[in-house]
Amino acid sequence: MADPSPDRDFHRKHGFSPVINVNGTMTGLGASRAVPQAIAAVAEIMPHFVDMHELQSHASMVIQDLTGAEAGFVTASAAAGLSLAVAGCMTGLDPARAEQLPVATGDKCRVPVQMGHLCHYGAAIEQAIALTGATCVTVGQSTQVLDHQLAAALSENVAAAVYVVSHHVVEYGQIPLKRFCEICHAANVPVIVDAASEYDLRGFLRDGADLVLYSGHKFLGGPTSGIVAGRRDLVKAAYIQNLGIGRGMKVGKESIFGVMAALKAWKIRDHDAIRALEAEALSSWLRAVEGFEGVTATIHPDVTHNPLDRLKLAVDPALAGASAGAIGLALSRHDPPIIVRDHEVELGYIQLDPCNLAPGQAPVVAKALAEAFRNAAAGLLSEPDLNESRNQGIRSYLEWG
Ligand SMILES: *Cc1c(COP(=O)(O)O)cnc(C)c1O
Repeated sequence: MADPSPDRDFHRKHGFSPVINVNGTMTGLGASRAVPQAIAAVAEIMPHFVDMHELQSHASMVIQDLTGAEAGFVTASAAAGLSLAVAGCMTGLDPARAEQLPVATGDKCRVPVQMGHLCHYGAAIEQAIALTGATCVTVGQSTQVLDHQLAAALSENVAAAVYVVSHHVVEYGQIPLKRFCEICHAANVPVIVDAASEYDLRGFLRDGADLVLYSGHKFLGGPTSGIVAGRRDLVKAAYIQNLGIGRGMKVGKESIFGVMAALKAWKIRDHDAIRALEAEALSSWLRAVEGFEGVTATIHPDVTHNPLDRLKLAVDPALAGASAGAIGLALSRHDPPIIVRDHEVELGYIQLDPCNLAPGQAPVVAKALAEAFRNAAAGLLSEPDLNESRNQGIRSYLEWG
């Protein structure tokens, strides 16, 4: 089906494969569509020299304004921010120690994390911690972590404790953030919150986090970047890591200036209007699958309370003629490919996320959905090999180049 959109024109012009992203903010698809203010800021700063410390001071003011933090700076990504934040908690403001990392000789070299928080966002949380030379210490079991277990893990040589807020973490049985902070603070251990994908720029600091990390290129729609915000002494200690392990995670002037613009734009964005557009897309997709047998379509709020709803399509293969996985596969073979949210597909459902749609794409998705369910009912869809799909991310890396 022809899709005469500016998005499609771009791909055609450069020989890139087009894609409609109803998965969510995905590194593998280029993160997000940048907001116009960020695009303009990147272009504006590129031809100029600028004192980078001065630029980061300006960024700190913008970050303070939006997060309520004492200070902040911009880094290459939230993952980089996690490594720098941990490193800062290990070295404090001592440049000699920062230069030594990842050889960790000090007394602060252990980093407890609840087992249910050890997720993978494209790489593993433990590895972002281990890059500093610190040792990630697992607390509790996958679905149950108790207060005394965290308290025990804080008893010796601890640099900081890491808390992850994400739909990737186990949703129950973990210590909630406020309690986590109380226990850590009683042991004089700072808490680093990885909130890479969260819309709430203030709540985690308010709940006790000492440092919090955000992605600049996810919901904010900035250039590739990460934000480190929080206590001034710890932000400064994380910042000096740019002398050491942070050098390979260097952030450019364009990302700093671009994410400053994205943050300012976030503050004045018409969030209600955007939600209304997303709601419209969701209800058009609901209507598109109405009347097909074996599909239960429901709208669900985001699990980490971001102001975002998604459409969940639970599919009964016996009635629909194909599984949820087969529907996802058919959509991925649509022209242009439609990439759905399928990380829980073995549970019998896929999800559609409207937050990264380009103008004009929602009706294309609606039509493709109806077509996929029609083909399923006619017995025309092939079933995916779920083991293959699960390992696809690794294969894409190995097959590249
Ligand atoms: C996306 C994500 C990251 C990585 O963010 P980047 O800015 O892309 O490095 C880290 N942690 C969580 C929980 C994430 O969702």
